[in-house]
Amino acid sequence: MSPVRRCSRTACGRPAVATLTYVYADSTAVLGPLATYAEPHCYDLCAAHSERLTAPRGWEVLRLAPDPDSLGPTSDDLEALADAVREAARPAPSSFPADREPVEVGRRGHLRMVPSTPATDS
Ligand SMILES: [Zn+2]
Repeated sequence: MSPVRRCSRTACGRPAVATLTYVYADSTAVLGPLATYAEPHCYDLCAAHSERLTAPRGWEVLRLAPDPDSLGPTSDDLEALADAVREAARPAPSSFPADREPVEVGRRGHLRMVPSTPATDS
């Protein structure tokens, strides 16, 4: 196993509970669950320092909640699902032909959404 990760702040040394990643392209500091691997531009922070984190001027801080359900769908899956739901919720164009087979309204990865049909078993 890897050794205990420590807060990267000078003279701190408490166990790290979160990883701060600077996304320079977006001027965003992302504070998320402790990263599995240390990467460039990533800084491990203890609880106290992650709470007191402030972004440099002109930067945003994005705090990600720890994911207690890491065995569930990945964030990519959830994002794709949210996109598909948003697309499905859009009103159909008025020119939508009513006599056609249901068409896909969204495709994200392995997720597939088709317009819902009235349920017959409820
Ligand atoms: Zn610290």
